[in-house]
Amino acid sequence: MPFSLFEQQPQIRRETDKNYVINFYHTKKFDNDHILITVDHGSWIVLNKEEFDLLRFNRLNESPYLKSILEEKGIILTQKSKNFILTATKNKYHHTWRGTTLHILVPTLRCNQKCIYCHAKSKNPSSKKYDMTKETARKVVDFIFQSPSQVITIEYQGGESFLNFEIVKYIQQYALEVNKKRNKNIRFVIVTNFTSMTKEKKRYIIDNNIDICTSVDGPKELHNYNRPMYGGGNSYDKVVEVIEEFQKEGKGMGALPTITKKSLEYPEEIVDEYILRGFNSIMSRNLSHMGSAKELWDKLGYTAEEYIDFFKKQIDYIIKINKKGVKFMDVKSRFILQRILSIEPRIFTCFGSPCGAIFGQIAYDQDGNIFTCDEARSDEKFIMGNVHTHTYKDLIKNSGSKIVDHTSCLSLNCDNCVWHPYCGTCMVWAHGSQGNAVSKLAMDYECKIRSAQTEYLFKKLIFDKEARKILMNWAFPKKYPPPYKEKKLLTKQEREAFIKSLKEE
Ligand code: SF4
Ligand code: SF4
Repeated sequence: MPFSLFEQQPQIRRETDKNYVINFYHTKKFDNDHILITVDHGSWIVLNKEEFDLLRFNRLNESPYLKSILEEKGIILTQKSKNFILTATKNKYHHTWRGTTLHILVPTLRCNQKCIYCHAKSKNPSSKKYDMTKETARKVVDFIFQSPSQVITIEYQGGESFLNFEIVKYIQQYALEVNKKRNKNIRFVIVTNFTSMTKEKKRYIIDNNIDICTSVDGPKELHNYNRPMYGGGNSYDKVVEVIEEFQKEGKGMGALPTITKKSLEYPEEIVDEYILRGFNSIMSRNLSHMGSAKELWDKLGYTAEEYIDFFKKQIDYIIKINKKGVKFMDVKSRFILQRILSIEPRIFTCFGSPCGAIFGQIAYDQDGNIFTCDEARSDEKFIMGNVHTHTYKDLIKNSGSKIVDHTSCLSLNCDNCVWHPYCGTCMVWAHGSQGNAVSKLAMDYECKIRSAQTEYLFKKLIFDKEARKILMNWAFPKKYPPPYKEKKLLTKQEREAFIKSLKEE
């Protein structure tokens, strides 16, 4: 029987009409009993050789049961499957027509740290000329509210946003004021390194219900190597102190590590650090050819294969932790799995094709320059306009935006790639590594990584029953309960004892 986890499907109707057309499909043969078929709207199925022959030689009427399943998934087009295919396709491109939801603002380019891989052109912490002014802040907020999206996320990025705390407060106050008339569903997120945190800022975050995201690159030595203070020195102790203070107040937060060449040696230790700090998830970020990382690639960078090896080790370790009953998740995998296991609109648009640049997210530098997305701030070629001179409509109608949208789908490889329904290329990364927004290589650095990540997760879903249940739980925790009795590590001592027990095995 064909194997499938795809749950979003209409009821099977086992009719044997002959009116069908085979949809355009991609294949990946794992072995004779496991040939993966994917179609662009997101459905997939695993067939054995015999079943696959019936499909590829167009002999499906010989197996009404197989035919009905393929119809149900839209792998063959029939009168019955067309609405499902249309809905799935509409959901896949949802982010390109709903209006931009994620707006990334840079209150200042100044930063009090000097992370070795910074992509954000951060400036000396005392150079106040790199701060956003109130006038620009108002223009940015007015611009954001021109997006037709009913859901708006305003995310502060840096530099270190909190070095311009007055503007952070001003933006929120002004946005809430504008929103009294617009009545959108608005959310604020601050990405901060925590090292300039004060009681006042902490109170502000908690009282104003602002979501927080920070960076912990791993154990102390590794974190301080990757993320020293400006002028040198330890940033780790302050970060840990602030995390604990927020946790005491019951305020959760997200955190992510950026993986440098040095980090590759510590796939497990980085996860251990997250568990010790009381997190229940991690989202490791591979280094990209942008900003300081590009300049120092020989010292900091690595091959795609080296990162893939790291990724697999880390995922296996996290799955092992889950098998012990401790709930911990890899967020990047979660996003990929959500794309694989559902046809609902996708949250994580960076793996989309087209991706989320402009239509899903926009970034605004401190001077009002508009970029296609946060990562694009690493290169002025990606400036699409300025809030002082352009409207949202100008941006969307601009032929440059259409080119960006198009470019993010262009790749020598993607159209025929089995992972394309769940993945897409990144023009910023291609430009950073090859000097061209359209990748000139059949498989570039980022493509190799994305391809390997998607394949690894698919293999776990298909071949590893225990891991499958864990991964399905990561993707949709309400729908798929954890396959183990959950053990909560409430205290620091419990967390330390758990990590110790893992090491003793
Ligand atoms: S260009 Fe790259 S980083 Fe920017 S939204 Fe697209 S995929 Fe993401
Ligand atoms: S980026 Fe690479 S892995 Fe992703 S769809 Fe394109 S070719 Fe496939």
